[in-house]
Amino acid sequence: MARRSPARAKGKLSWPKIDEIHTLIFDFDGVFTDNRVIVSQDGMEMVSCSRADGLGMDMLRRHIAQNGSPTAFILSTEANLVVTARARKLKMECLQGVADKLQSIENHFAQTLPNERAPFDGLMYVGNDLNDLAVMRRATYSVAPADAHPLVRRAATFTLPQFGGRGFVRAIVERLLQLNTLSTEEVCELVSDR
Ligand SMILES: [Mg+2]
Repeated sequence: MARRSPARAKGKLSWPKIDEIHTLIFDFDGVFTDNRVIVSQDGMEMVSCSRADGLGMDMLRRHIAQNGSPTAFILSTEANLVVTARARKLKMECLQGVADKLQSIENHFAQTLPNERAPFDGLMYVGNDLNDLAVMRRATYSVAPADAHPLVRRAATFTLPQFGGRGFVRAIVERLLQLNTLSTEEVCELVSDR
């Protein structure tokens, strides 16, 4: 598969419609969090996440339940109970302790889309740091927060103005769902508990 050119990676593409994405993969630290960790004296770790992102994931999950796609999950280098806890709260699948994210995604596509000739064309990958670079170069659609590493921002198809853990995920979901084009009734339906 041909590698994307740096020029294409810099944002020649327009934001995709959600039905152009078959797989949506999120890094965790620096995406769902502000990339800081609070460590207690007994080694317990705590992170800071956004309620706005939580509601955004609720809306995305509702869309997925109604439409059957995209497949969405968290892929984290860190293996940590805080990631497990947040993923459980968000009702998201989560793969942790993944040293080589690109290899992990290639394996995922080999299993889930064995007949897809160019599975990375339908991938939106969301990441913020250097361990995301290899995937971001391969994914047709990659998204970075405003406080991502400069090399990640340069490689990303899109860099949004929001910071990680501060509504960045929510902004992605609202763009994918084209929230600004929906009626008030349609928005109410998306956030309804029924
Ligand atoms: Mg990260």
